[in-house]
Amino acid sequence: MSSKYVYLFSEGNGKMKALLGGKGANLAEMTSLGLPVPQGFTVTTEACTKYYDDGEVISDGIQSEIMEYIDKLEEIAGKKFGDEENPLLVSVRSGARASMPGMMDTILNLGLNERVVEVIAARSGNPRWAYDCYRRFIQMYSDVVMEVGKKFFEELIDKMKEEKKVSADTELTADDLKELAHQFRDEYKLKIGADFPEDPKEQLMGAIQAVFRSWNNPRAISYRRMNDIPGDWGTAVNVQEMVFGNLGDTSGIGVAFTRNPATGEKKLFGEFLMNAQGEDVVAGIRTPQPIAQLRDVMPGAYDEFVDICEKLEGHYHDMQDMEFTIEDTKLFMLQTRNGKRTAAAALKIACDLVDEGAISDKEAVLMIDARSLDALLHPQFDPDALAAATPIGTGLAASPGAGTGHIVFTAEDAKKRADAGEKVILVRLETSPEDIEGMAAAQGILTVRGGMTSHAAVVARGMGACCVAGCGSIKMDEENKRFELGGKIYKEGDWLSLDGTTGNIYGEAIRTMEAEIGGEFGRIMGWADKYRRLKVRTNADTPKDAAAARAFGAEGIGLTRTEHMFFEADRIPAIRDMICSETVEQREKALAILEPMQQSDFEGIYIAMEGTPVTIRFLDPPLHEFLPTDEHDIEALANTQGKTVAQIKALIASLHEFNPMMGHRGCRLAVTYPEIAAMQTRAVIKAAINVKKAHPEWDLVPEIMIPLVGEVKEFIYVKNVVVKVADELIKQTGSDLKYMVGTMLEIPRACLTADEIAQEAEFFSFGTNDLTQMTYGFSRDDAGKFLEEYYAKKILESDPFARLDQIGVGKLVEMAVKLGQGTRPNIKLGICGEHGGDPSSVEFCNRVGLHYVSCSPYRVPIARLSAAQAALKS
Ligand code: PEP
Ligand code: MG
Repeated sequence: MSSKYVYLFSEGNGKMKALLGGKGANLAEMTSLGLPVPQGFTVTTEACTKYYDDGEVISDGIQSEIMEYIDKLEEIAGKKFGDEENPLLVSVRSGARASMPGMMDTILNLGLNERVVEVIAARSGNPRWAYDCYRRFIQMYSDVVMEVGKKFFEELIDKMKEEKKVSADTELTADDLKELAHQFRDEYKLKIGADFPEDPKEQLMGAIQAVFRSWNNPRAISYRRMNDIPGDWGTAVNVQEMVFGNLGDTSGIGVAFTRNPATGEKKLFGEFLMNAQGEDVVAGIRTPQPIAQLRDVMPGAYDEFVDICEKLEGHYHDMQDMEFTIEDTKLFMLQTRNGKRTAAAALKIACDLVDEGAISDKEAVLMIDARSLDALLHPQFDPDALAAATPIGTGLAASPGAGTGHIVFTAEDAKKRADAGEKVILVRLETSPEDIEGMAAAQGILTVRGGMTSHAAVVARGMGACCVAGCGSIKMDEENKRFELGGKIYKEGDWLSLDGTTGNIYGEAIRTMEAEIGGEFGRIMGWADKYRRLKVRTNADTPKDAAAARAFGAEGIGLTRTEHMFFEADRIPAIRDMICSETVEQREKALAILEPMQQSDFEGIYIAMEGTPVTIRFLDPPLHEFLPTDEHDIEALANTQGKTVAQIKALIASLHEFNPMMGHRGCRLAVTYPEIAAMQTRAVIKAAINVKKAHPEWDLVPEIMIPLVGEVKEFIYVKNVVVKVADELIKQTGSDLKYMVGTMLEIPRACLTADEIAQEAEFFSFGTNDLTQMTYGFSRDDAGKFLEEYYAKKILESDPFARLDQIGVGKLVEMAVKLGQGTRPNIKLGICGEHGGDPSSVEFCNRVGLHYVSCSPYRVPIARLSAAQAALKS
């Protein structure tokens, strides 16, 4: 750790993101490029981590360093904090390494007080502007730094407007605003119990501390968890001389992207507002104008801005997202960063940049957020169903994709209903960072207010969620959970469909269909495949899923859960009969019904996979999932088995387990009922022999996987059953079929004794769902109930069932890899837990030397790209 905690913009550069945060590093870089940047300094991320290490205080050392830099800034600006002649005003903004909505955003006009406001009113000859700045500052400071709550101030504004009989803020006079500022100060005193700070230095220290504090607010913690951002990074704070976009009609503010963030089209895209300050655009209070119109309004500033855009994109080799202010016709750059974009835009921009010679194909692979591909792979509306539907309204096409669901009006309701398996559409006046989890849970987001750069639009795009923003014709009644659109009332629970690509809104459910991939997607995937080492397989239980995964590029199946083949209504009676059999004969009779079903499924899967490896896992049902609960099913089972209902109920009761996840499942089932393993072996082998006959060109070697092994002797017992049955069959039919027998490593003891198990097993597949469950001792079905508390209390940063715990569970995996390879150097190694489709976990798998990852069909492209990124980064 360095002992320097503050940097002038002129002391840093764009490579210093870890220390200066993204915003600070880019402000420094723009400064060094000679662009018009209001000057300032950055308090580093290390100062933030030190603040936490020191028990949430800014140390005296750092405070005096900040004071030194205020002196330096005063000298650069030729202005002084609190000065009666030429006062310095600053903005204070947070800026972490990765941009993070949910943290404290911005405080503007810091440095104003009762005297300074008079000075700037007199100097500018614009008292209305001065008092407007002042009341905004008190409001923002109270809200953001002291957490008083916006609504108290908004109520005061509304009251003032009522008294003055005006409808817009802009109609309030200088005197009104002055009076309002004093009301705000009184409100502050009432809520905080102290006077509003007059001393600009005290104001600044309060603001910096608030930024540090906001690093750990619940919204920021939740955002970090969703985006794999470590909690120990901390945030930097940028203090920058104010420039004013609200000085009159020759001033303004704007936000723009060098390319279209929704489609990737190479064309300047953005919005501006004349005579405004930052929060006017972000909050969607006034509707901004498209950036192209700036050419007419202020041609000089527009041309300069276009030049800067080209310069910045050429410099960063990526699409830029910029904020600017025009102060009395002079342009200032307040921010630039690599812009957030939709997945489709990301692919187009990457391919275009390669074609333009700006980046290499490796860089193209690295610049795409693998998780964002999800959005492309998700359903679109069925064109026929869409053609038959009539829109009830339109808004901005803020984030593409199709969403159909039941209307909800709050983020909590969205989450609650989605957790219960319902599809929901979140409808809000406008969204704010508190809504993030609800937005993530929804099929789509609809807002009444806000433009393409509003919170809803930016966040939805980042998440890959479909979003229609700014549908102003909605008459919203949030309190009663209803709205009116197109002359009709829509209530909570009603169906709604959103087309995030056109902005259309439909008051009905519309059928969706699978996405198609090709074009740029194919090019990027092709480049990814060139650079990755890990193979990517899929977890698929049916020929249909297998075919879908194959279309997404799966190179085999890493896990077929054979019990899932029996969930269908016409099959479940047979498996119930099998589970409830009391004698071997009875069980074999039930198994004989299941065998042809399994065999034909396996044939379908082999064919769908076209000769690529297929791993079939033997039965691993937590038995309770299959037992009948409903009277009708119990009766049916009693009839099949020639028993009474009471007898069946007694049998079900006897099968009850206290810990079914650690109960009679996995290989334990095959140890007690070897006839099950024998039946499954016959189905696997016969299916393979048949398919091999039809496709002699395929190198079909079925991989039989024994689940939940913890002791090598369990494995040996089941393997002996498999080998006996398989070899006999192969011999009988005169086939030359080869097959493999391996195991899942999903019990800690299996990892600890992997050297012994590898003597018998030809492959290992890490079942990290159960391995996480048993290593942490967290029930995979119940952990969700308490994990939220763990995140809030910073015990865990992410869900270990979604993102592999590399420290603990990962240590077992690494150990097992080494032990296994020690015994059997060419042992095949893969992963088939949910983590196989999670980018950070894929990176881990690459590092520890697994041969493949296996994940659900829709995540195959994500895994392909993550595997390439992992290989390129290592
Ligand atoms: C696992 O435990 O990681 C696994 C893939 O098996 P299942 O999820 O079926 O228990
Ligand atoms: Mg398992």
